[in-house]
Amino acid sequence: MADAWRLGIEYSLSRRTRNLQKKGEESMPWVKAEDCTGCGVCIGACPVGAIEKQDAKAIIDNEECIRCGLCHRVCPSDAVRHDAEQIPAQVEANLAWVRCLLEHDYYANDPEKQAWLMKRMAKHFTKDLNVAKQTLESLDSLA
Ligand code: SF4
Ligand code: SF4
Repeated sequence: MADAWRLGIEYSLSRRTRNLQKKGEESMPWVKAEDCTGCGVCIGACPVGAIEKQDAKAIIDNEECIRCGLCHRVCPSDAVRHDAEQIPAQVEANLAWVRCLLEHDYYANDPEKQAWLMKRMAKHFTKDLNVAKQTLESLDSLA
């Protein structure tokens, strides 16, 4: 019982961490810090004030961003990037999450439990795929 409780807590924490990572990774658009000169052009262009400077680099507040793409168009340094570039990093984050779960005491050295986990993970990622697919299929009905 104690092990199950610990597993639940640890799983919940790692999921929260992953969701936070996911939120940052899924930002669209996002600023590639190493290419940002801090010129502020994007800040002036943003119609909703969603960009600010922190440590001389532009930062986008994705809660405020209305996805107009102006910052991407005006940046003279091509530092505002598309989120599709982050797909490999997101795939790696997903794999790291599954690896981390597999190494948990609950699953380690138990091929049967590991196989069960793989099935659960396959269902989880298939669900994400279906959400994206069905959303894409319905987009045209909105405008
Ligand atoms: S316009 Fe580009 S280089 Fe200038 S602050 Fe914004 S992201 Fe950085
Ligand atoms: S996409 Fe538009 S709303 Fe979002 S940060 Fe860029 S300029 Fe602002």
